[in-house]
Amino acid sequence: MKIETQCLHEGYTPKNGEPRVVPIVQSTTYVYDSSREIAEVFDDPTKSLIYSRFENPTTDAVEKKIAALEGGAAAMCTSSGQAATLCSILNICQAGDSFIASTSIYGGTINLFSITMKRLGIECIYVDPDATDDEIQAAFKDNTKLVFGETIANPALTVFDIERFANIAHKNGVPLIVDNTFATPYLCRPIEWGADIVIHSTSKYMDGHAVQVGGVIVDSGKFDWTGGKFPCMTEPDESYHGTIYTEKYSFAPYIVKARMQLMRDFGCYPAANSSFLLNLGLETLPVRMKQYCENALTVAKFLESNDKVESVAYPGLESDKYHKLAEKYLPLGTAGVISFVIKGGRDTAAKFMDSLKLASNEVHVADIRTCILHPASATHRQLSDEQLVAAGINGGMIRLSVGLENVEDIIDDLKQGFAAI
Ligand SMILES: *Cc1c(COP(=O)(O)O)cnc(C)c1O
Repeated sequence: MKIETQCLHEGYTPKNGEPRVVPIVQSTTYVYDSSREIAEVFDDPTKSLIYSRFENPTTDAVEKKIAALEGGAAAMCTSSGQAATLCSILNICQAGDSFIASTSIYGGTINLFSITMKRLGIECIYVDPDATDDEIQAAFKDNTKLVFGETIANPALTVFDIERFANIAHKNGVPLIVDNTFATPYLCRPIEWGADIVIHSTSKYMDGHAVQVGGVIVDSGKFDWTGGKFPCMTEPDESYHGTIYTEKYSFAPYIVKARMQLMRDFGCYPAANSSFLLNLGLETLPVRMKQYCENALTVAKFLESNDKVESVAYPGLESDKYHKLAEKYLPLGTAGVISFVIKGGRDTAAKFMDSLKLASNEVHVADIRTCILHPASATHRQLSDEQLVAAGINGGMIRLSVGLENVEDIIDDLKQGFAAI
């Protein structure tokens, strides 16, 4: 099936007389005829449902759909994008380990990697996404367990060279994890370029309507964990009656381990109702993404031609530093988010933003409605000036998330904002 069809039909196929739409299974647990059958469920939890802290039929349908969209073997939903990022790392890193991350990633992820991971004894080594292969290679240590990057970085809008980073990661025997939130599987499928694990904040385009906070982790099922660096995957799990994930669950050992260990222990599973809403959003993902790309390119060109604007970052623009990479990885378009720097710095940016009537000031992005945010005083507020520069953020930078309104209305709103400064 093509992706438009997958969005509607993967994950749930009703049988004779069953509901057309995936039902909300609002139940904490599942009933079995005997304690022997429950014991069997524990022996192989991929066969039946145990408890809604780590699996639920509504969420399961969405997980199957997202795994199909990304071309992965299996997926696990989480209660937020942050939970997905956290679990994706902790699943294969422990105290004493390190991992490599691109500097150009979401501010919340930088916080998690630099502060919280450090407290857990895990070191994050940052590399510039534009560093040379040799510079990236030099960042590896013996204890390095993975490489992490973002397809289109929020909010710097750098495009991550997935294939190049995947090759370097694999040469070092570790997987590449890609946060594909802004691109969505409609615009880019990182697994096709060599990524091993894909994560998302589903709160953004996937849901699309700003009605649920959620995340997901997808396992390509392709990474070879048996090279010796990952005893957590290849040796018996004492907390799960001696299971060896790479042997028993070779189709997707990473995701089964994440569910049976991390989800069991952390309990960051989404509610069935949230998964229902996420599924509803996914059904229309392709039509929405097409229109976001079209609207945002029109708005980016308008901003680029405006003399009150110092610079525009939108990989869809031919003048953009990342346009070549965008042509390779994002041939259908580069989504709806634009970053631009207004002349006059922080105060002018505030005046401009406060003058807008249609675009709302809010801590969200990739919503169906146009919204706007000042990263330096909101999502990236906790970062030092140095970290801000590394993440590609300037004091006068505005993140504009172009919605699905008529693009002429969006541009008229921006025009009256410029007139006010
Ligand atoms: C928002 C976002 C996250 C965090 O997701 P939440 O659902 O807000 O927890 C992670 N990565 C990227 C790229 C994001 O935009």
